[in-house]
Amino acid sequence: MTTTSATPAVHVPLVRHDRCDRCTASAQVRAVLPSGGELLFCGHHARAHGPRLREVGAVLGP
Ligand SMILES: [Zn+2]
Repeated sequence: MTTTSATPAVHVPLVRHDRCDRCTASAQVRAVLPSGGELLFCGHHARAHGPRLREVGAVLGP
């Protein structure tokens, strides 16, 4: 069964092994940057960096 859905735009839910980009805690928040890049944050770092990320136009979500 091969579905050729190579669409990176699809929102993939965070899974358990995704890690925060700033520490080793499991990621809980995804920040999608205007450039198309993604950052993953734990709850702590999402709070720490969230305001700054929104400032630059990033969209934060679960
Ligand atoms: Zn963290």
